[in-house]
Amino acid sequence: MTPICLVGIGKIAVDQHVPAINASDDWELAATVSRSGKVEGVPAFTDFDRMLAETDIPVMSLCLPPVPRYAYAAKAIAAGRHVMLEKPPGATLAEVQALQDMAAKAGVTLYTTWHSRMARGVAAAKALLADKAVTAGQITWKEDVRRWHPGQDWVFEPGGMGVFDPGINALSILTEVLPAPVHLQSASLSFPANRQTPIAADLSFTGGITAAFDWRQEGEQTWEVTLQAGDDSVHLLDGGNRCVINDQDAAPSDLDEYPALYARMAQLIRTGASDVDLSPMIHVADALTLGKRIAVDPFHF
Ligand code: NAP
Repeated sequence: MTPICLVGIGKIAVDQHVPAINASDDWELAATVSRSGKVEGVPAFTDFDRMLAETDIPVMSLCLPPVPRYAYAAKAIAAGRHVMLEKPPGATLAEVQALQDMAAKAGVTLYTTWHSRMARGVAAAKALLADKAVTAGQITWKEDVRRWHPGQDWVFEPGGMGVFDPGINALSILTEVLPAPVHLQSASLSFPANRQTPIAADLSFTGGITAAFDWRQEGEQTWEVTLQAGDDSVHLLDGGNRCVINDQDAAPSDLDEYPALYARMAQLIRTGASDVDLSPMIHVADALTLGKRIAVDPFHF
């Protein structure tokens, strides 16, 4: 088993990364780095430089929010470690390109993970659409920010991306399953009067594809992508975990999202490869560049 260090022990590290690592035959959770978070039974560092200096753990999985993540990734690569990045892979596109360059020069693996691409229905949707022309599509990604990001003010700070923090998951599925790329044509972004990032967004892409993201949805949560290709229809439900093709359920893939990410990281290291794909984040950057701003009610957790 390969030793791995988990950095940023917060909501997603505890909910998904720790169970996925513990269940895998590829990995041993050898240390954590977090200012206050810990994982029982695992050596805990509060200082990243100290962990790099005092251990030879070869792989770092960075679960911090996107703004602080770059500095950690750059140090890890400089110290010759392989790096796995939570989504979104950075606060800016250029900083991730810089990391890609550094990793290539250092001969280490860099993996920009997109967990929703590993949802169990996505591979079937991609296979169905591979030789087709998509003629229309709708994304509905509506959830309750208080439930999924309780008290996390960073999502509303510059670089936190607001509703694009979950919305980028839908865009990661879209960019994975579409047989040909699309680009953004217009966007409306709803900014709470007291916040720096949008709480809702409506996007319109070439190819007749639209997306509605909203973080104010209480009760039932909706994470759906519907694509039409001529007479064929593909519905991805439950965040991509269920795929219905022409009203029939398609066979799901074998692994859940985070176990599949860690299996992929193990494979990348074995083959000496990196996997860096910025296409979901390019759509977000385009929306923040092109989007019309609408002021809405202040938001408080
Ligand atoms: P979080 O709980 O707010 O943050 C993770 C940990 O990072 C914190 O517990 C904190 O640990 C550390 N941290 C926060 N700000 C920092 C800073 N400025 N400098 C250094 N360390 C800092 O966030 P999260 O929900 O786990 O999300 C982290 C990443 O995972 C995000 O990119 C998010 O998009 C992604 N993600 C989240 C979810 C979800 O449901 N929440 C789902 C999938 C992916 P210490 O205070 O102990 O240092």
